[in-house]
Amino acid sequence: MTYADDLGSTEPRCPDCGVVMRGEEGGWTCPSCRRFDPVEQGPLPPSFEGPSIHGG
Ligand SMILES: [Zn+2]
Repeated sequence: MTYADDLGSTEPRCPDCGVVMRGEEGGWTCPSCRRFDPVEQGPLPPSFEGPSIHGG
């Protein structure tokens, strides 16, 4: 699948791994290498339903 004209809402990719980075509060985090790219206006944090899944 290709997203040629959908860069406006496409999630950024890790420059090291090339995987889609996950939106975190204040930036983007690579789920592979844990690289964190801070941004001035980060994406809205996902709606938390219940306790955090990430234990520790
Ligand atoms: Zn990475």
